[in-house]
Amino acid sequence: MSPVPESGRAAIALLQQLDGLLQQLQRNGRLPEDAALVLPGSLDDELVGPVERLNLLVRWLQQATRLGRTLADGDLQVSLPRDNPLLMPLKALQANLQHLSWQACRVAEGDLNQRVHFLGDFSTAFNAMIAALQRNRAIEEQLKTLTEVLGEGVCLVDGAGGLTFANPEAAKLLGLGQERLSAPTAPTWTGRKLLDFFAAAPAAAAQLRQALEAGHDFHSQDLLLQPAGGVPERPVALVCRPIWQEGQYQGAVLAFHDISAQKGYEKQLETLNRQLQQQATTDALTGLANRMQAERLLQKEMERANRYQHPLTVILLDLDHFKQINDQFGHAAGDMVLRTAGALLRDNLRDSDSAGRWGGEEFLLLLPQTGAQAACRVAEKLRLALQQADFALPRPVTASFGVAELQPAEDGARLTARADDALYRAKGSGRNRVELAERES
Ligand code: GH3
Ligand code: MG
Ligand code: MG
Repeated sequence: MSPVPESGRAAIALLQQLDGLLQQLQRNGRLPEDAALVLPGSLDDELVGPVERLNLLVRWLQQATRLGRTLADGDLQVSLPRDNPLLMPLKALQANLQHLSWQACRVAEGDLNQRVHFLGDFSTAFNAMIAALQRNRAIEEQLKTLTEVLGEGVCLVDGAGGLTFANPEAAKLLGLGQERLSAPTAPTWTGRKLLDFFAAAPAAAAQLRQALEAGHDFHSQDLLLQPAGGVPERPVALVCRPIWQEGQYQGAVLAFHDISAQKGYEKQLETLNRQLQQQATTDALTGLANRMQAERLLQKEMERANRYQHPLTVILLDLDHFKQINDQFGHAAGDMVLRTAGALLRDNLRDSDSAGRWGGEEFLLLLPQTGAQAACRVAEKLRLALQQADFALPRPVTASFGVAELQPAEDGARLTARADDALYRAKGSGRNRVELAERES
């Protein structure tokens, strides 16, 4: 075998060095910084050019693997020299990624007109994300418009109860002024504690505090709103709904409106009801119980007397010759006598007794826990009191009395009929006297 010429050995040595470098590249994914082919011995002129070009290729490889990795590590600004043809695809990718980051920044600033067309599946996902953001923005706009036209105050608070949003009605009710919510800077009231506006009604405010802290539903008609800026306080109806996201309490949305008018009506209604109740049970002239109420009271006292086995006595009294008083002194004087007689009866009875106007000039008195004899003494006292009272008339006013004690198993009609019989007897015996009803066997 003829010996290999020196240039052949040099070429083999070069190929071996190249092979060594390629194996390193395969193993490590990169070449050392100083990777280069070195020709042994004196260089054959014919090999100078190829060796230089091979070394250029080795440098390109070294540079492409190094800069490719830097780019892959996220340094989108890495400088990729134009004289390395292996870097051309990386350069195109770098330009795309730089454009993509610029687009992402624009989206973050609110420009949803960005689309990606050069990154295959990623483009589809990115564009779908933008479409979803656009849908959300449309919903957001609709909701904002809705809260703007709503007659209900709507506000949002964060997890610490600080205001983050108030629609115009809420701002008005809270006395916050109408700062533009779309202004680039947040309104000055942002972060103010909503609870500070509700200190006036401590019990309901404590419940609202609890709901806001624990993230519970809450509604109340008992809250008193103390607006800012000296606006007068007012009652509000309020609903509070917590916002939870993935198990985390985010804050709450609150809706409220002024119920001053409603509260005013409720108060008026209460007063009217009280007046109606009063009118339905009271005799307008004397202020005593009217006939219906007197019958009700009689029924009640009879039930009580029967249940507890207590005595109960009724007195029926009728003013004597009252027609004459009307005829002689006029109807107004008659009315005055009825009023005075009513007051006198009321003043001379115990608190536990009752007096009612039974008819024109006839009165029914109920004396619980009082037997016939004691009741006759009461009737006698009243008879004298009436006779001696000053009615500002030139003649005395007297009355006749019928007294009846409740008997076992007797009903109200029977009891008052017996009192009426006794009264009739008193009239028949000369008037201005007390008669006790007979017991029925
Ligand atoms: P006696 O002693 O028998 O009871 O005679 P009397 O005149 O009291 O009885 P009578 O039943 O004849 O007359 C009762 C009168 O009372 C007739 C009626 O006009 C009058 N009267 C009834 N209600 C009122 C009222 O609210 N105001 C006035 N001023 N008079 C009344
Ligand atoms: Mg009479
Ligand atoms: Mg009468």
